[in-house]
This record gives sequence, C-alpha cells and structure tokens, in this order.
Amino acid sequence: MRKKGLRNGLYERGSFVAEVLILGGGFGGLAAAQELRSRLPDDQITLVANTDHFYMGFAKLWDLAGIRPLSGGTVPLDNLERKGVRFRHAEITAIDPRNRRVETSIGDLSADTMLVALGAESSRPHLDLLAAEDAYNLYSGEDLPGIRAALDRIQRGSVLISILGVPFKCPPAPYEAALIVDELLRRRDVRDAVRVAVSTPAPMTLPVAGRDASQYVAGHLQERGIELLSEHKVTGVDAARRAVQFANGLEVEFGVLLGVPATAPPAVVRTAELIGPSGWIEPDRYSLRTAFDGVYAVGDCTAIPAGNGQIPKAGVFAAAEGRVAARNIAADLGSGEPDQFDGRGFCFLELPGQKVAYVEGNWYAEPKPEVSLSEADEEQFRRKQEYERAHLEQWLGGDTQLGLRLRSP
Ligand SMILES: Cc1cc2nc3c(=O)[nH]c(=O)nc-3n(C[C@H](O)[C@H](O)[C@H](O)COP(=O)(O)OP(=O)(O)OC[C@H]3O[C@@H](n4cnc5c(N)ncnc54)[C@H](O)[C@@H]3O)c2cc1C
Repeated sequence: MRKKGLRNGLYERGSFVAEVLILGGGFGGLAAAQELRSRLPDDQITLVANTDHFYMGFAKLWDLAGIRPLSGGTVPLDNLERKGVRFRHAEITAIDPRNRRVETSIGDLSADTMLVALGAESSRPHLDLLAAEDAYNLYSGEDLPGIRAALDRIQRGSVLISILGVPFKCPPAPYEAALIVDELLRRRDVRDAVRVAVSTPAPMTLPVAGRDASQYVAGHLQERGIELLSEHKVTGVDAARRAVQFANGLEVEFGVLLGVPATAPPAVVRTAELIGPSGWIEPDRYSLRTAFDGVYAVGDCTAIPAGNGQIPKAGVFAAAEGRVAARNIAADLGSGEPDQFDGRGFCFLELPGQKVAYVEGNWYAEPKPEVSLSEADEEQFRRKQEYERAHLEQWLGGDTQLGLRLRSP
C-alpha cells in the first residue's frame, strides 16, 4: 500500500503539492474527483484543466437539433470548490510521471498520486481538410453556430457527414447528426432538393457495437433516405470544387460538409513518457494503473484492449474508468477496497422525435463484445436526460443554472 503523504496541500519551494492530482476536468476527471471526495474526505484533491467549464458531448447535438442551446448544459468547473475539490484553471505543458509532477501555465504541481484524464483532441491533418468553405468540424462546439447557419441556408445540393478517420469519439454521433440534419431540412421543406449522405471508412455503421446495432442504425438512415457510403476512406477535400475524394476513386460534392476528425492524444500526453506502442496511454485494463508508481490513466487518452478492438472513446466509459481508478487510488491511500473496471458500458443512441435506443454491453467479452439494443422510445430519452442531470449535479452540483427544460419534439 502506498503511504499516505504528509504534505497535504502545501506550497513547497513555489510548487504546489497535493495528495491527489487529477489532470483533466471531463468525464473521467470529474467522475474520479467525486468518487475520491467521498472516499477521502479529509484529503487534498486538486483538479487541473485548461477549460473552465464542462458539458456533455451529446449536448452539442441537442443544440444542433434546436432542442436546447449548449449554454443550457454547461456548468463552470469552479463549482468543484463547493464539492471540496481544489480547481486550477491552467494549461498543462509537461508531465513527469516518474515524479508525479506537471508543469503548467501557473507553475509546477506535484502529488503523491496522479490521475491522467486529459481526453483526446482532433487530428491536425483532419482539421486541415476542413479548411474549405462550408466545411465544419461536427464535433466542435465553436463550429456549431456556423453549422446551424449553413443548414439554415442550404436550398439544394448535398450535406455530407464524413467520418475522416478512426478512432473517433462517440461512434453513433455522426449518424445521430445525419438524422438531425434530415429532420432540420424536412422542417424547412427543402429535404427533397438536398441529398444527405454519411461516409465512413468502416464496412458498417457501428463496428464497435457489432452487426445488429449497425443494421439498426443503417435501417433508420435508409428509412429517411440518407445514403450510407460505407468503406469510403477520405483521402482529400478539393476546396475549390467543394468535393470530398475517397480512396476508392469516388468523389462527392458538398454544399455543406460536416467532418468528424479522428482523435489524437493531446500534445502534452504524446510527448510524455507515458505513451505505449499504440501511441496512447496503455494502463492495466482492470486497475487503470500505468507502469509508473502512483500514476493512473482513464478515458479517451488511453487505449484499452477489448473483445475484438478497443474500449470505445465515449464519456460513459471514461466516467466508469474514472470511478474505478479513484477507488484504487483511495485504496492505495488506505481508504476502502480496490476495484476493477469490467469493460461494461452503454450508449444512448438518439433518434428524431426525442426517442432513444439503449445500447449496452460487455466490451471485455471474448471473442467479441456482447452488446444488446433496446427499441427506441421516449422513456429512454428521459433516462438520457436524467443521466445528464444526475451526473452534473453529483460532479459539479449546486446552483448550476441548467437550462434542462428541453423543447418538445
Ligand atoms: C458530438 C459528440 C457527442 C458525444 N456524445 C456522447 C454520448 O452520447 N455518450 C458518450 O458516452 N460520449 C459521447 N461523446 C464522447 C465524449 O464526449 C468523450 O468520449 C468524453 O468527453 C471523454 O472523456 P475524457 O474524460 O476522457 O475526456 P474529456 O471529457 O475530453 O476531458 C478532457 C479534459 O482534459 C483537459 N485538457 C486536455 N488537455 C489539457 C492540457 N494540456 N492542459 C490542461 N487541461 C487539458 C480538457 O480541458 C478537459 O477538461 C460525444 C462526443 C461528441 C463530440
């Protein structure tokens, strides 16, 4: 068992020393902070992030669909202080896992135990592909106003949603977005004049969830006349001709291009000693411990082998891993029992009309993940809303001024 540190929250020679340092204030970091706080009430927990707020990824699609503005699901990370977690808004510029020390824009921070939950960023070459006019990063909150305006403007031509590479975050999101685009165009009565297509390099819509879930999604696309271009690997975007080029020699012109970039580890993770042969952090898949003493890693910045691939890059997995890592950190420090991540997770697959199909499974099952899917209904949509409400309340709590009242379908 690691010994409980005695340097609780002191500044030593200009550097801040905490007992537990959490790097990142997303799903993984926030879930871990909350779990740690319940297990180590007297200890010093510090969370560092280069953003001062949090919202769930799917809130972007609710904004796009006109269900609720993104601001309605956004909560300041300062609220952590009310939960007994010290928050530092800072850019982490270097990680030294041997000494559990980081360099940041506000000075060095070190700790007895460190959890890396720094997420993933968009691949730079894919962002460059989206430099063309009327091409957007579907996954960027900043691009949302431009995307909404472009979809309000288009009268004819095509909207292409293009998965630019793998892995990418939240595998169902591009298809959910295609269904939203279809719905918005129908509301404007221009759908007949606008082609809607989704391209993916994969042979099916959701390889991580298997054939049944993939066919379910493909069926909904087909029902709405959305073309599915599977096995279409993007090789380039011709900005002048506004066309996406594919490895199979085909080309698709677009009026609006919504690109989904592949993810890459943040630069500060890429350059740290933590990286494994996959290019990501590779913690033990059960304990989430890295090879470095007292250093854990969870969420999108990791590659965790599962059934026939990897644990999907999704918030529910990052949060589940964060809770397990927190229990193991607390156990290392002498509080409570350790835990193991079991590879189980779920996904709210959202369809138009505020309906959700619930996908759940065991991604550690061999030889491939065991995944089940429930038919979409309003009850599951309410479950999704409640997931957001309950977690934002648990993690950041208090007077969050959430605009949780959603527009009716
Ligand atoms: C459109 C969309 C829809 C989605 N829908 C869903 C869904 O329905 N269900 C689901 O489970 N997932 C969904 N996701 C995916 C989900 O958002 C991510 O998988 C999840 O956020 C990963 O959690 P994380 O804790 O690993 O990283 P993040 O939540 O990305 O958190 C990373 C943290 O690290 C901080 N950080 C990064 N670099 C630095 C640095 N250098 N210095 C300081 N701080 C830094 C960031 O500020 C952030 O606080 C969706 C994503 C998108 C884009």
